[in-house]
Amino acid sequence: MTLPLRIAVPSKGRLASPTTQLLRDAGIAVPGDDRRLLVPVEEQGIEILLARTDDIPTLIRDGAADIGVAGCNQLLEHGSDGIETLVELGFGACRLVLAVPNASTITSSALLSGSRIATSHPNVLAAYLEANAIAASVVTLSGSIELAPTIGAADAICDLVSTGETLRQNSLRMIGEVMRSQAVLLARVQTTPDPRIAVLQTAVESVLAARPKRYLMLNAPDAALDAIIALLPGLDAPTILPLARTDMHAVHAVVDAAELPRLLHPLKEAGASGLLVLPIEHLIP
Ligand code: AMP
Repeated sequence: MTLPLRIAVPSKGRLASPTTQLLRDAGIAVPGDDRRLLVPVEEQGIEILLARTDDIPTLIRDGAADIGVAGCNQLLEHGSDGIETLVELGFGACRLVLAVPNASTITSSALLSGSRIATSHPNVLAAYLEANAIAASVVTLSGSIELAPTIGAADAICDLVSTGETLRQNSLRMIGEVMRSQAVLLARVQTTPDPRIAVLQTAVESVLAARPKRYLMLNAPDAALDAIIALLPGLDAPTILPLARTDMHAVHAVVDAAELPRLLHPLKEAGASGLLVLPIEHLIP
């Protein structure tokens, strides 16, 4: 009997809701209001393991899960041996940066030698310091990193930021970037030959590819057909279908959602009618 494929999903925190949404869009039945942390979805041959995001790389590496989602900063921190990154998911974007109090005389990361740097990413920071020949000491804290300089626990910090607002609120100034991160779909290297991994990866990739796209349908009078087609962006030729009436054709095209606001009016002006814009659930280019 084949064992169920175990998928580790962040149970709470920043990556929980976008991950659950993505997997559901990909057709995976991630449970909603379930108190259990290991939920079998028998009809799909999977188990959902709800876990702390920070633990997910370790769970995958040790074989407690086959596949899962975490930040790539967390993957590097906990060791990526035996783990393959299948897909960059585009959410959870952030940067691991070095920062000092506004009043500090340190103006760049090269000047951090001799200082104490507080972080919850000791391994990534140590590798960065070694690679850049910076002789600083690492103070490992699990939270409230921004407070460390104020309370005298460190001279600088190495922390995750997305907008930089938390740094500003704590009178801290960025002096360097250690890495950029985003959420990633991870799999255990030993499990990747399992065809169910490729099936899941394709489902997830097709959802990500579809999200920024829309399916545009319109009717074009034959006299305006060329002008209307010329307005449509993209390399792929649109689909042209004959209509029951003889002087018009239907035009279908996949377009960027971001292009639509500036596209609709010229299409209408060119004579298009019956315009419909539909979401796309899956797209494989
Ligand atoms: P959690 O602690 O479960 O909320 O997840 C934290 C993960 O979310 C981090 O390891 C990053 O990969 C990601 N993330 C994205 N933006 C930020 C941010 N501004 N601060 C902290 N983590 C972030």
